[in-house]
Amino acid sequence: MTFEKEEFNLFTKASGRVDVLVPRCLIGEGASVLGIKVDFEGLCSLQVEWKHGKICSIKGLKDDSKLPNEILLPRFAEPHAHLDKAFSWSRAPNYKGSYQEALVANLSDYKSRSENQLLFSVEKSLNLALVNGIRAIRSHIDSFGENVIRDWDLLEDVRKKWRDKIFLQFVALVPLEFWQTHEGELLAQRVALNGDLLGGVIAPPFNKKKTIKSLLHLVQLANRLNCDIDLHIDESQSCPAAGVKLLLEVLDRIENGISITCSHLSSMSFLREKAISNLAKEMAEKKLNVVALPLTNSWLLGRNDRATLIERPLAPIFQLQKAGVVVSVGGDNVNDAWFPFSNFDPINLMAFSMPIAHLAPWDRLGLSPFTSSSASILNLQWDGLVQKGSPADFVLLDSNSWVKALSERPKRRVVVNGQFLNELPKTQNSTSNISNP
Ligand SMILES: [Zn+2]
Repeated sequence: MTFEKEEFNLFTKASGRVDVLVPRCLIGEGASVLGIKVDFEGLCSLQVEWKHGKICSIKGLKDDSKLPNEILLPRFAEPHAHLDKAFSWSRAPNYKGSYQEALVANLSDYKSRSENQLLFSVEKSLNLALVNGIRAIRSHIDSFGENVIRDWDLLEDVRKKWRDKIFLQFVALVPLEFWQTHEGELLAQRVALNGDLLGGVIAPPFNKKKTIKSLLHLVQLANRLNCDIDLHIDESQSCPAAGVKLLLEVLDRIENGISITCSHLSSMSFLREKAISNLAKEMAEKKLNVVALPLTNSWLLGRNDRATLIERPLAPIFQLQKAGVVVSVGGDNVNDAWFPFSNFDPINLMAFSMPIAHLAPWDRLGLSPFTSSSASILNLQWDGLVQKGSPADFVLLDSNSWVKALSERPKRRVVVNGQFLNELPKTQNSTSNISNP
């Protein structure tokens, strides 16, 4: 085959046209859909065309009798995962389901985790994420044992291998005080060099003085290395918002130029309404982002033997949004000691977390935590809005309404850079058939 023919085929494959329903709030330019009807679920009937992997035309469909039977969504960004421990439940189960037991099971599994076990977790996760329609993942990586460098080398290889299909961003998850050690400094330099993030955990009970000192050091270190931070903070049902209050205290003392994400923030919902809105305003002023994690919060937190918890330890999403904080919703753990279920499926995540968080797909602020806000928190080039010139990177759900799409587990087609997934060349040395070691 000549070069021209090969190139022609590539371009043909990276082109296409579909009649679809698109959420109005995800359409970037109003001009292309002016006068087009929006249905009760906020969906518009459109014809979307793409060439060379980019959207070249968006037209409204005027014929009401021909309702499209697919919903088009941008491929998703997962803002909070743990690829390194996914699918480790069989090695480290946690039948009682509490936070403390999860921590113990996690630590003992982490100490003995082999390279093959790590590779299995990551590859299985990525293969599922790809077919389910995920384009980018921020994953926290346990990074406090003797195999840290081995693990990060392996993850770097995985990132390179997957770069055309899924963009990966890692967060070094360590005890907060680790960043003050010599090893911490070396790890931070490596993390910063690769554009990854520094992480940590702030959950009660904690020593206020020690935590402030560690946080101050971490924020200064991150600013010196120009590297962002993502913290597991206030993943608890007690001491409401105690961690984020300390973080704000630290940010009052120093100049901060990097982006900080607060993952979980569950206990903040136990403050009084006025205190929630005041704190949310302060967070917005300091440009803090939030990743809410309804599934793991509902499963792990507030367990009390045989008494069902009535309150919800969950980031107060609406109040944060109202104050101007960017909030996204993530999947967190998958089939490990922290959470036994789930499968890197963003539609599944929406179907299960929307009822918990009272979010609705037909509200702009109900859908954005799963779409544009996640893209923004990961600082992705494409914000996920569908408009001329944006990437042809879609999930097409075989459904004509949100209610059906979130009830029936619809079939889906995934388009990556203009090509349908089943037309993509297989990844070299694919380990998708790798068995559980
Ligand atoms: Zn997490």
